[in-house]
Parts: sequence; C-alpha cells; structure tokens
Amino acid sequence: MENFVLSDIIPANVSIEKVSTTIPEHPDIHLSILRLDKIHPVVSGNKLFKLKYYLQAASETDHRTLLTFGGTYSNHLAATAYTTKITGLRLIACVRGEEGNRPSHTLEFCRANSAEIHFLDRALYRKMSENPDEDYLTERFGPHITVASGGLGIPGAIGAQEILNFIPEDCYSHICVPVGSATTLAGLLLGNRKEKILAFPALKGLNDTSDRIAQMKVVDTDNLTVFHDYHFGGFAKWNMELIYFLNRFYRVNRIPLDFVYTGKMVFAITDLITKGYFPAGSEILAIHTGGLQGNETLPKNLIAY
Ligand SMILES: *Cc1c(COP(=O)(O)O)cnc(C)c1O
Repeated sequence: MENFVLSDIIPANVSIEKVSTTIPEHPDIHLSILRLDKIHPVVSGNKLFKLKYYLQAASETDHRTLLTFGGTYSNHLAATAYTTKITGLRLIACVRGEEGNRPSHTLEFCRANSAEIHFLDRALYRKMSENPDEDYLTERFGPHITVASGGLGIPGAIGAQEILNFIPEDCYSHICVPVGSATTLAGLLLGNRKEKILAFPALKGLNDTSDRIAQMKVVDTDNLTVFHDYHFGGFAKWNMELIYFLNRFYRVNRIPLDFVYTGKMVFAITDLITKGYFPAGSEILAIHTGGLQGNETLPKNLIAY
C-alpha cells in the first residue's frame, strides 16, 4: 500500500523550473518553482498529497466512503471527487449554501466524477466542517471517513510532507508555500528541513496558523515566517495589479498561476525581493500548489492563459 494512488497520478510531470523575476536590481537572487500544477490539468497541486492517507484509510474499510466539505468553487472538493472516482471510492460532498440556478463548474466536475452532493445551510455547514458531529453525520449519511475542510488533520499533513520528496536537500535557502487550511504548511514543517519556510496566507486575518499546525503535531517552528499582508483584501479577492502581475509572469515564464493562492504568493515573493528581504545568493523555491481551475471564476479574458 506504499505509494497508494499517488504513483498512478503523480507521474514524472512534476519538475522544478528556474524563473525570471524580472527584477534587474537583484540578479543574485534566484527563484525556482516546483510545478505541482502539472500533476493534472484540473486536480493539481497539493490536494492529492493531502488526500493520500484518507483515501488509503477509506479503501481499507467496508463502506469505502469519504465525506468532506467545501464551498461551491472548492479546489479541495474537485480533487477529492476526482481521486475517489479513480480509486473506486464513494464520496459524499457537503457543500456550503444552496444550489444556485447554475451549478458552478467545480460542482459539475464533482458530479461528473460521481460525487454525491448535499447542500448544508451556512450554520450547519460551519458547525460540521469546523467540528464535525460524527453521530449526526453517520445518522444522516451512513458510515464514512470524514475529511475536514481542506484535508486539515494529521493524515493530511503527513501526506503533504511527501511534497518534500520532490525538493532536493541543500539546494534552496527558502521554501515558499501559500496557506489556506495550513495543512500543507504543517506537512512541510513536519519534514524538519533546514530551509527557511515562508508562508503566505490567502485569507485575511488567519491568526490561528500556529494553533492549526500545532494540532497537526508540528513542534519546531523556528524556521517559519508567516506573511499576513499579501491576501489582496481577503480570500479570492483580486485587483488589476494582481491580474497584470499574473499575465506578465505568464508572458515571461510561461507558467500559469492561480489568482487565489499561488499568484498572491509569487507576487509577494517578488515584492519581498524588491524590498531587499532576501540576502544576496538566496535560492528561493516556491511551491506551485495548483488551483488553476479556480481562475475560471474570473471574468472572461482577464487572464491571458
Ligand atoms: C487548497 C490550496 C492551498 C491551501 O493549502 P492548505 O493545505 O489548505 O493550506 C494552496 N494552494 C492552492 C492552489 C490550493 O488549491
């Protein structure tokens, strides 16, 4: 059961690419990108790693069912639907809010991958996704294994730790990662590597990062720095400065970024380089956690890729 699932869906596509930051004043600072976005066109990035041990656990039960939570545009739901489908598991997807007139492309993708979608009103959703009441969920949906929103939890973090297998040791001074639930961040910290870890929350006021990672058994945070000022006004908020940045970055490097997580992280790294944050000779590695399906929620033609 070693390499369960991931060996099939994470082929040799993952690569590390050097990019141009187009900051001529700092030619001695280098940025590379770990292209987890290349794993799969829709279900890319960190999600598959976070799901690995939940999928494995469900595959060892009789019910072979996962239950998870997400919003209508959730990358996590899309990834869970896809991976449960290809591993022959059943997925109960609890979605926040009500079914609109037109289902989002994310929910259509989930349905196409056989997910059973149930809408929970906001209050119930909040209660269940933050602190699942297993008795209630089992009574309503039958036996299952619950995956908290974003894969948050120890199995999620242990899976995410395996992202480090793609990052050679002693090559980089800094590893950068965007943050939602902080599960991926926790996984990187569990690896106890020497590189400095720079974290970029995509949410405004994500003040409980340290509680979250402690919950996932992270003890050592000496090499962690969290940057709280690059969310562009909040989760999935954007402005034209960010859009221009994404388009310019794509024009120069041919690497697509998403506007919710990776775009804001790379924008932040560029800004920090410009401001002299990184010492000369820094070798920065940014993890492209995928999420490109999220760009479909932007108005048409804003993004040039
Ligand atoms: C979900 C997601 C994240 C957040 O990862 P967490 O482990 O929840 O912190 C980052 N980037 C992308 C593209 C995502 O879809």
